[in-house]
Amino acid sequence: MHRQIEGRLVIATHNPGKLVEMRELLAPHGVEAVSAGELGLGEPDETGETFETNARIKAVAAANAAQLPAFADDSGIVVEALDGAPGIYSARWAGPGKDFTAAMTRIERLLQERGATSPEQRRAHFVSALCVAWPDGHIEEVEARVDGILVWPPRGTAGFGYDPMFQPDGHDRTFGEMTAVEKHGLPPLGLGLSHRARAFVKLSEICLDRR
Ligand code: IMP
Repeated sequence: MHRQIEGRLVIATHNPGKLVEMRELLAPHGVEAVSAGELGLGEPDETGETFETNARIKAVAAANAAQLPAFADDSGIVVEALDGAPGIYSARWAGPGKDFTAAMTRIERLLQERGATSPEQRRAHFVSALCVAWPDGHIEEVEARVDGILVWPPRGTAGFGYDPMFQPDGHDRTFGEMTAVEKHGLPPLGLGLSHRARAFVKLSEICLDRR
């Protein structure tokens, strides 16, 4: 049985870019979102080997610490020509200074080293795994992806992370050149464009009130 999300929900992220997006996604459902940072909760080590496991580690830790239902996302970019790197290490590739220009440059250098110059050789996808954990141990999980190509040089200043380098299939602009509304592509405008929005649509179908 799926369980409905109601009332207060802890958002288990310390990433300001993701926090803003999660609040935007949850707002229409009347859920009051408090962040793990605001509650002073620590960040568990992401020791899992999949997006799904890492999302669960973060949600369960926050639910237990706050004694409230907690919502976590684990996400990243998977570059096909790089055997799936950086994948679950997407945040770590930016280093402690969270330098995504350096992380994007590293991807581009590796692609060039492999001679990946055509769009077909530069395919990538973002993945978002979402997990909601309750203090009594109940869990709801979904995962979604968005496919596209990597462009160089990066374009646009919107969004965060690897957005300026990622152009989703069927579009001629990168996520960095899109407004948040376009990047999410949520109903009634669309059926979800970004990986996080698509995963969110799946989650809302099973555990959020439609308002
Ligand atoms: P984590 O889920 O906190 O481990 O971090 C995932 C990392 O993947 C983020 O720090 C970003 O670098 C990258 N990432 C995830 N989602 C997006 C997105 O929507 N746009 C750009 N980069 C993203």
